[in-house]
Amino acid sequence: MSMIRPFTVFCKLNRISFSDRQWFKQETGSLSHTDGVCPACRAKACLSPFASYTRYLVEWAGGNPATHEITVQRYQCSSCGHTHALLSSALVPYSSYSLRFILMVLQAYFLHRDSVQAVCERAGISVSTLYRWKSLFLAHKALWLGVLESLETSAPAFLDGMDGILLRGFCLKFLFSFLQRPRGTSPDPPSGTPGRTSGLT
Ligand SMILES: [Zn+2]
Repeated sequence: MSMIRPFTVFCKLNRISFSDRQWFKQETGSLSHTDGVCPACRAKACLSPFASYTRYLVEWAGGNPATHEITVQRYQCSSCGHTHALLSSALVPYSSYSLRFILMVLQAYFLHRDSVQAVCERAGISVSTLYRWKSLFLAHKALWLGVLESLETSAPAFLDGMDGILLRGFCLKFLFSFLQRPRGTSPDPPSGTPGRTSGLT
């Protein structure tokens, strides 16, 4: 399923002072932060609101994971008929966890401030989820930097320097998002919530 990704945040991600829900809100509700082009057929100005669905957003709130339900708007192209979800850059496609949630868990892991067990407990995730995030992160870091430069750039340094320009550039270059799981793998619902995942992205 295809999606439209607006990017409005270009500063360093660890400098963002607003919540992921506020970030989401800022990029939702209109196509004004996108090029307005249908990702399927490249037609211009042919997208109109179609339907919406709810999905989970797990973000850090005062040092604890907080789960919210958010509404994702879909748009349909009047030229080719395809529908696309408008997915804020605060989110990771097919994951309930916000991008910053995952990055902060990884930063804690790479800095070895705590045991793996403690990091996972605080985030409310399983150890296997952490290791899946880690391998995706390392793979995408190497994609973005190139293998040699990636070897010379530590994970904490790379995380520290991540900004919205990287997120947008990554998406434009590789046609999938940073930390987006490959096609054909199942989404990860937040643990501790009912197994209902109404959203597709
Ligand atoms: Zn189209």
